[in-house]
Amino acid sequence: MANPEPSEVLFFGRVLNADGTLKPPAQGEGGRPRGSRLEGRVVGRWTVLRFVGRTEKHGLSLYLCRCACGTERVLTHPCLTPHCSRRGASRSCGCLKKELTRARMTVHGGTANGIRTPEYRAWRSMRHRCKNAVTYIRAGIRVCEAWERSFGQFLADVGPMPAAGMRLDRMDGRRGYEPGNVRWATLKENARNKACNHFLTFRGVTRCVTEWAEVLGCSRRSIRNRLKRGMTVDEALGLPFTYSGRPRPTGD
Ligand SMILES: [Zn+2]
Repeated sequence: MANPEPSEVLFFGRVLNADGTLKPPAQGEGGRPRGSRLEGRVVGRWTVLRFVGRTEKHGLSLYLCRCACGTERVLTHPCLTPHCSRRGASRSCGCLKKELTRARMTVHGGTANGIRTPEYRAWRSMRHRCKNAVTYIRAGIRVCEAWERSFGQFLADVGPMPAAGMRLDRMDGRRGYEPGNVRWATLKENARNKACNHFLTFRGVTRCVTEWAEVLGCSRRSIRNRLKRGMTVDEALGLPFTYSGRPRPTGD
């Protein structure tokens, strides 16, 4: 697949040089060009320089090859022939993959001059957490499909990190990483949100108890006590807090 047009011209099974002369066959029994079949061939970025021997175990032909980037390596026959290997022929020493990855990241803005941006690192560790951290797996915290697939989509939805050192924060800790539930937060905000697992939804806004206490100008204890006494969330957060000593701010 990687080599639809072999650069060599075969003449009765032997390689024909550009000037029309035949390449001398490699030494082999009966003049058969053993092991030289691939010499001079271009496979992906590899140019096959010469046959160097066989593997001890399976007798696979070994070829010294040079990648377009200059790296030289000895490859086995299956590495150079797409039909002989499940993975297909080798395309390069690894430089091709690196370049493709770099190009992909550049399109999405994930790197600046090859250095990963903080947004990209946050995206990568978010995906890593959801796949590997036991607490996340148990809680069913997932990355939404669009973000899982594309860093670009994630960046478009969440936006760039406003200041250095910020973290991704799920506003509603019960929901996963999805548009509308994730913001950039300082380490402090993030830590508080993590520690605070008691979320209350009031007038369409979900906040943890600590945040509601701040917004309403009361203590966390006041809210918890009201809920314990059997008030609904609307009552617990909606009724004025007269005894806290602080005036309840108007509005939300
Ligand atoms: Zn290379």
